[in-house]
Amino acid sequence: MKYFILFGPPGAGKGTQASAMVEKYRLCHISTGELLRSEIAAGTELGQQAKALIEAGCLVPDEVVEGMIEAKFDSVKDVDGFLLDGFPRTIAQAEALDAMLKRRSEAVTGVVSIMIPDEMIMERIKHRATIEGRADDAREEVVANRIRTYHEKTEPLIAFYRQTDRYHEVDGVGTIDEVRERIFTLMDAF
Ligand code: ADP
Repeated sequence: MKYFILFGPPGAGKGTQASAMVEKYRLCHISTGELLRSEIAAGTELGQQAKALIEAGCLVPDEVVEGMIEAKFDSVKDVDGFLLDGFPRTIAQAEALDAMLKRRSEAVTGVVSIMIPDEMIMERIKHRATIEGRADDAREEVVANRIRTYHEKTEPLIAFYRQTDRYHEVDGVGTIDEVRERIFTLMDAF
């Protein structure tokens, strides 16, 4: 099994690129953001707890997302691997992922990091808000908090994965097709 991490700030285009990647490389796409939004839509207890945090631009507790990831690893078969989108988002989550994979005698295959400058994050999310109507995209102060959370809690993962030789960056500025081609070139080399 291959375990890829799709990394990048909010609005970098992870979800968009993930669809093409899972199809080409026969991967199961696990987006913690999407999983959490389905829990909210279904009105589960977990969803109710996550809703306020997400709509404030904060992270949900590590244990919650770790449990979701492990449940997927346990249940999904018939794929060549997994594409983790939006997970890990903290050092603690990255360590939990390593432990989870170790128990399965597996390891992270590669990290694909889509990089865009901060000023573009706000612009892209404002645009997405008009299309997708996500509650956490609607308010500028919430998006600003997500950007802050990214820098504080998630960006340190770059150094974490750089220590391994599995971290690779692609420039996320360009058309969807251009970025996809950059990602495919990188993935083909894994
Ligand atoms: P984006 O990449 O645009 O920020 P996501 O759909 O990945 O959006 O995530 C939306 C929200 O869901 C996050 O702002 C956060 O509140 C929550 N979330 C998603 N993944 C995680 C995670 N791994 N750990 C904690 N919270 C998460």
